[in-house]
Amino acid sequence: MSTATPPSLPTSLTSPSKLSVPKEETYFVLALLVSIAAWLALALSIFGLLYALIFAFFLWIGNGLLCAYLRAEAVRVSEQQLPQLYATYLEVCAKLNLTTPPALYVLQSGGVLNAFAARHAGRSFVVVYSDFLDALGADSTEMKFILGHEIGHLRSRHILKQMLLAPGLITPLLGPAYRRSWETSCDRHGAYAAQDIEASTRAMLVLSGGKGHGRQLQAEAFASQHVDERGFFVSLHELSSTYPTLSRRVTDLLALKTGIPARRPARNPFAYLFATFVPGGNTGAPANALIFIVIIGLLAAMAIPAFQKVREASQLKVCLNNERMLSAAFDQALLENGKPPTTIAELVGPGKYVRQMPVCLNGGTYELPAGATSSDEIACTVHGTKEDIQHKFNAATGRH
Ligand SMILES: [Zn+2]
Ligand SMILES: [Zn+2]
Repeated sequence: MSTATPPSLPTSLTSPSKLSVPKEETYFVLALLVSIAAWLALALSIFGLLYALIFAFFLWIGNGLLCAYLRAEAVRVSEQQLPQLYATYLEVCAKLNLTTPPALYVLQSGGVLNAFAARHAGRSFVVVYSDFLDALGADSTEMKFILGHEIGHLRSRHILKQMLLAPGLITPLLGPAYRRSWETSCDRHGAYAAQDIEASTRAMLVLSGGKGHGRQLQAEAFASQHVDERGFFVSLHELSSTYPTLSRRVTDLLALKTGIPARRPARNPFAYLFATFVPGGNTGAPANALIFIVIIGLLAAMAIPAFQKVREASQLKVCLNNERMLSAAFDQALLENGKPPTTIAELVGPGKYVRQMPVCLNGGTYELPAGATSSDEIACTVHGTKEDIQHKFNAATGRH
């Protein structure tokens, strides 16, 4: 590693307590309001609450398995294991006022350059992919930036917010914008930990340009892509993405040198319109997949009761038709014989009024009360008379 460039301490990042961008606070309040409304709506419907609990349980299991995978399969970094990286990590934790450093793991992941933070049952994890470690070096300032970024996620309780604010995070425009502000805040944590803007941008350039040539790329030239590419699709990509684009992140990092926020070039206005239909939460760290499971779970929670109602209504309809058929046979027998039949069996069978006994889908059988004088008294042992079924049908379909 070359140490020729003197570290350039950004003037705007002088205290570890003011690293999150103010925008994050604003989005937090909005996401909180959306989430409270959504959770309340869910809690007010019995099914909603039940399914929310079931899916919270599965989410917990899934997250537990992810963290178990890390603990069992990834390499736990310590004084004995990868001591250089461990020393860098402890330095970063101390710099960011973290008294008890979370467990750090290195995970082989087939060439992917990334790192992420996770949390389960009160235990926090920071994970660096092995190729990223190889690309940046265990004691590099670039690595300090990456570790600082992940510690930023844990310090800002983003993992917890991912669960509690899930409805806000899947809200189009708001969710992705909120998560982009997380990344911007965490990049500032990283830059503060690294105390070196050049090294921080180099880490970003490796993410974008790969480990071979990433380090030699020109940060300013890459940042200019953010200004040059302002078309509809780039704007839509930005608005629906949970990460700021890498060129935007480099732009923001470079701006930290002077402390003057980077100019925000306008986006294509039509992109906002289209992004309204794109729910939040696209690709990213594995933890994002969990949010996706929650979305599917919530949709299922809404769909399953509706499906059950449709099924119940169709079963009632079948039973009602059966009773109508038996009623018609009853009336015909009454007409022909001059007296009402005394059992259903008199009506059903070969050569009788109804050839075969109709089948109730819920296993009910049809009975005629002793001394019945009207076909309206025919009843299913499960569903009751025609009138009973009509009431049940109205209740199931919401008609009154
Ligand atoms: Zn991040
Ligand atoms: Zn029935």
